[in-house]
Amino acid sequence: MNDENKDLNNENKNNNIVSQKHLRHFLDIEYLPKSLILDILDLAESFAGVSGQPVKKVPLLRGKTIVNLFFEASTRTRTTFELAAKRLSADFLNINVDFSATKKGESLLDTLRNLEAMHCDMFIVRHPLSGAAEFISKNVSQNISVINAGDGRHAHPTQAMLDVFTIRKYFKDFKKIKVAIVGDILHSRVARSLIHALRILEVPDIRVIGPKTLLPNGIEHMGVTSYVDMDAGIKDCNVVIMLRLQNERMNSSFIPDEHEYYNLYGFTPDRLQLLSKNGIVMHPGPVNRGIEISSEVADGDRSVILQQVSNGIAVRMAILSLSMQPQPDN
Ligand code: ASP
Repeated sequence: MNDENKDLNNENKNNNIVSQKHLRHFLDIEYLPKSLILDILDLAESFAGVSGQPVKKVPLLRGKTIVNLFFEASTRTRTTFELAAKRLSADFLNINVDFSATKKGESLLDTLRNLEAMHCDMFIVRHPLSGAAEFISKNVSQNISVINAGDGRHAHPTQAMLDVFTIRKYFKDFKKIKVAIVGDILHSRVARSLIHALRILEVPDIRVIGPKTLLPNGIEHMGVTSYVDMDAGIKDCNVVIMLRLQNERMNSSFIPDEHEYYNLYGFTPDRLQLLSKNGIVMHPGPVNRGIEISSEVADGDRSVILQQVSNGIAVRMAILSLSMQPQPDN
């Protein structure tokens, strides 16, 4: 199948795309055509400058109302979505579901109906259950877009986009790099979405590294190579992405103890020399120093962790602006 047909085929599977340049919803990365991912990265590049201007705003979404609907704690994702929406001049609401009517017994669908009655244009959804954002997207009216800001262990597509945006700042050609993802792959929506994005961008060597208990069975079917030995796994890699142990999603003990885990899978300073000459270290946050990464590495000159946070604003601006539904023709 040639590239164009492959893109069209994927597009048919993904009813979240209404045209190559416009998104109905942004729920997952799996079926996005490569050309659309590259368009989002290019658009994000053009938004990156806005944060450095004296007036950090463009009028693109003026008059639109965007709602952060977060059913799970978040710092970076919640605030960078808020900043992205405000830099696009949208009106913005943060609904803290912990204190909202859903806690008083109102059903999720009733909450949605009420927000629709307030003429909101977009919901950004974070939820502990896999599939929640898709469920909401199927239960909102036609003119509302839904963005997945992380659902259970399933997907975190905007994180994957900001990760590949950050990688592209250092390595222009995705076809020439080796990327390793280290740690709790089993419970990680970040890993799942990132693997899809890297595959679509044709990264030839994608590795996942962790104890057997934290590597999903059959992960190789996603087109990655798995390693239980961290040193062998990160050897010569250009990019290493460290993951947090997602204790809140573990229902039993997956590692002997954190000290042992740090010795075997922590990014210690001596492991830096195993990377390629210009290799970078990434982490989606929140970072647990001394468990999956040392402070020396997290704060060192190979770390791009804070750049990932800044890039999150520009990438989310791109996704919000592409996902906003156009006004109906008069
Ligand atoms: N912030 C990321 C997420 O929401 C990673 C993490 O929580 O460890 O999945």
